[in-house]
Parts: sequence; structure tokens; C-alpha cells
Amino acid sequence: MALPGAPRAGELVWCYGTMDSGKSTLALQNNYNYVQAGRRGQLFTTGSRSGPVVTSRIGVEHPALEIDEAFDFVAHVNAELSLGRRIDYLICDEAHFYSASQIDQLAELVDGLGIDVEAFGIATDFQSRLFPGSQRLFELADRRMELQVVALCWCGARGTQNARVVNGQVVREGSQVLVGDMLHRPTAAPHVGYELLCRRHWRQGVTRSHATQDGLFGED
Ligand SMILES: [Zn+2]
Repeated sequence: MALPGAPRAGELVWCYGTMDSGKSTLALQNNYNYVQAGRRGQLFTTGSRSGPVVTSRIGVEHPALEIDEAFDFVAHVNAELSLGRRIDYLICDEAHFYSASQIDQLAELVDGLGIDVEAFGIATDFQSRLFPGSQRLFELADRRMELQVVALCWCGARGTQNARVVNGQVVREGSQVLVGDMLHRPTAAPHVGYELLCRRHWRQGVTRSHATQDGLFGED
């Protein structure tokens, strides 16, 4: 029970899922619902191919503040409040790219100011290791929600691995962050993409296009 006079406690919620599990769609849906209910909030993203916007694969988008590793959530929110702006909640997309200390800043805002924070992101990288931001969210969140949209491997099994595919081959070594489908890349540069696979096909390195070539997977 809250003490009399104590500020309302906020909540830090970590919503995680694989690629294509609908994270950004849910982030935008929640934002819409909160705005309809008269709440005021801000959206954040980082490392996004589409710039300062949260986009969903089903075609909805909303402007967002794009942050970098030097961004300080506590300083930003305090500056906004000092200008007389109201902030009830923050929606943080691509939160796996945030630093551990930025996640600590979000927890500080939840506890100190009663701001609700919803963070959306991928848990593990192409090597199946936790991103630092994701790890910190698992450690600090009041609630951890795995998104229940089931995204499938080409074989029909549940997709659990965010495989990195370079020039058609699954790779399991390299830097943790490498954004795929880069625009303006030199033509000689390797093509980097990501594909959701089940663990078995991630381990075997069998993508949808391999399976199609080998007749394991029909085009129709
Ligand atoms: Zn599979």
C-alpha cells in the first residue's frame, strides 16, 4: 500500500520478442490508447533504419526521438518538466540497443517521478546472446512480457533465433550491432540481412532460400 502523500509508483515493463513478433506495432497501439485516455508521453527509438520514427511492419508509424549512446533520459525528462511539459509515460522502442546505464536511468524515472516506462525490443542477438540493454531490462523490470505473436521459421517451427545472413550465409561471429539492408552501401560491400529461424536451422545455417534451392521448401 502506498504511503499517504507518496507519489504514485510507476512501472517499468519489458516487452520482448523476436524479430517480426509485433513489438513496434504494440508500442504504437499502446501509445494510441494512452493518448486517447488523455495521458501524455514520449516515444524513443535508436539504431532504426527509418530515422526518428517508430514504424511497424503493418504500415503504422509515429514520430519518435532518436537517441544515441550519450543520451541521458533523466536529464531529458527533467529538462522537459522544467519547461512545464507533462510526461506520464515513455515508450522506448529498439530498447535492446540502449546501454545498461540508460536502462538504469529509466528505472530511476519510474521510481523517482512515477513515470511509466514500456521498453520494447529483442532479447538476444544473432549469436543468441543477450544484448546489454536487454539483460539490464530482465534484471530491473517490474514486469517482463514475452510477446505472444508467434513468428515462424520457414520450416513452420517457432522462430527463436535472430539469424544474421551475410551474402546468403548464416554467420555467428562479428560485432553485435550491424544494421541490415543498408541504404547507400557500396556495391562491393557484403549484403547483410536478418532472418528469423528456429534453433535447429540457425545451428545448421539453413535459411529459407537454401531450403527453397534444395527443394525442402516450396515457393507456393
Ligand atoms: Zn526451422
